Amino acid sequence: MKKYLQLLLLPVFLIFLSSCEKEESIFNFSDEQVDVFNAFDWDFSRQGILKVEKITENISVIFGYGGNILVSTGTDGTLIVDSQFPQLNKSILEEVEKLGGSNIDYIVNTHWHFDHAEGNRAFGPTGSTIIAHENSREFMKNNNEIDIVLVKYPQQSYPNDSLPTITFKDKMALNFNNNNISLFNFGPAHTTGDTIIFFKEENVIHFGDILNIDSMVFIDSGNGGSLSGMINNLEEALKIINKETIVVPGHGQITDYETVKIYLESLIISKERLLEMINQNMQLADIIENNPIKDLENILGDTSVLIDRAYLSLTRNKTIEQGQ
Ligand SMILES: [Zn+2]
Repeated sequence: MKKYLQLLLLPVFLIFLSSCEKEESIFNFSDEQVDVFNAFDWDFSRQGILKVEKITENISVIFGYGGNILVSTGTDGTLIVDSQFPQLNKSILEEVEKLGGSNIDYIVNTHWHFDHAEGNRAFGPTGSTIIAHENSREFMKNNNEIDIVLVKYPQQSYPNDSLPTITFKDKMALNFNNNNISLFNFGPAHTTGDTIIFFKEENVIHFGDILNIDSMVFIDSGNGGSLSGMINNLEEALKIINKETIVVPGHGQITDYETVKIYLESLIISKERLLEMINQNMQLADIIENNPIKDLENILGDTSVLIDRAYLSLTRNKTIEQGQ
């Protein structure tokens, strides 16, 4: 009888094993990718990684490893902006449930970078509808290298079930949880596929990495981002919001209109000073050594990565005087 029971349970056990393997495969990262996680001190086995801040009646922000996740819960379901990492999917869902959501109906990716979109690989296969700028979808379909100067991240292509199924070019509207939600792309900035998301009724905006007020400003110039584009995007975004708007940056704490304005002004000054040096034919190493924006580090964080990537975007075009 016992043997019979064992035989009977064997298929159940095998199904259990294969489902574990499937889950494990979501968490598979190459040694090069793990090196980057370590460089950022991201240890996914740590407890209590996520912190949650409620910012309006229906909107909260989850802070963890990678980009800030905005969560909108309500009668229409749950929408999140950015998805962090698949290793955190269960913890993210637990927090969404505490906020009154059950599953994640929609994900809007601010852009395709791994620290904002990797969680798609966990949520996409379970039925979340993913929305992003059309260029971000293209990047997610392919293998890419992100040169963060200090480290390089080889981002793998995403499977079909983890890709955005809804894309847009310049602007798109969603009506969800009593909010008119506008998705804007104002041309290349941090990447070539950025989305700024504005919740009109609750007066909340998520900037993605166009606004990074954590430790440093990073522009993915290696994949088409540019300092001039960052400036242009911030100028356009300031036209949509007002002094009462609650501002969610890609990285860093919840902030406000004034911070965005000061950050923008600092980038404009950075561009002017860098262009001056570039037009004197100074090379990158000299510019970094004679750092012309050191005094802005209380606003922009460490500026060495910013100078490196801004230099690349400013010197890419022949017309250096204006810069791109
Ligand atoms: Zn990014």
